[in-house]
Amino acid sequence: ETDGGSAETYVIATDTTFAPFEFRDSSGELTGIDIEIMEAIAEDQGFQVEWRSLGFNAALQALSADQADGVIAGMSITDERQEVYDFSDPYFTGTMTLAVNEDQGDEIQGWDDLQDKRLVVKTGSMSEEVARERQDEYGYEITSLDQTTTLVESVKSGNADVLMDDYPVIAYGVQQGSGLVTVGEQVEAGDYGFAVNKGRNAELLEKFNVGLAELRDSGEYQEILDEFLASDD
Ligand code: GLN
Repeated sequence: ETDGGSAETYVIATDTTFAPFEFRDSSGELTGIDIEIMEAIAEDQGFQVEWRSLGFNAALQALSADQADGVIAGMSITDERQEVYDFSDPYFTGTMTLAVNEDQGDEIQGWDDLQDKRLVVKTGSMSEEVARERQDEYGYEITSLDQTTTLVESVKSGNADVLMDDYPVIAYGVQQGSGLVTVGEQVEAGDYGFAVNKGRNAELLEKFNVGLAELRDSGEYQEILDEFLASDD
């Protein structure tokens, strides 16, 4: 449907508030590690990106419904997901963490303090899955919500006692003054990958992998990480 000379356009779905991977800057512009990596790969590989900032679970649903060509959303590569999606080479490694209101850091210091506590996690996320797996052992109640900002707000306001989400995202929020503290032993979250529907978009996946390798070689990949993950040491 594109005319001969113009570049291919791919619809890429992403999460809404998952800083520093995707978020809106002060002028309302979509930015973050995922966004900049994808834009740089698109430039390198000569395609256009049409963004859909939908939320994590909604992004996966859009992909499954063929309303998007791919998802980049700090998405962990898991065995279960690999049955439905093809993933790119990994581009980031993270963990998951618990976090509480900083005023409550004494009461809840880790997993063993979660008996009867209200835990919030993100719908469709790996944290939700881990929360369910460990629920019998630690005895908390689980509520699933759609966005990281909503998880943070519910812990801040006292509607929930504790959240679990990806460590780099929660740690970034803490740095930005979210008023939370991370507590407890972190959980492996696996590597992040870019996902397409299984067996249906090898061409886009190949472009992503080739472009990613080039960004790593040129140093641009590291520059993007440095821009969003300024170290405090
Ligand atoms: N890494 C987590 C997952 O893949 C969370 C992703 C997200 O919330 N955007 O489930």
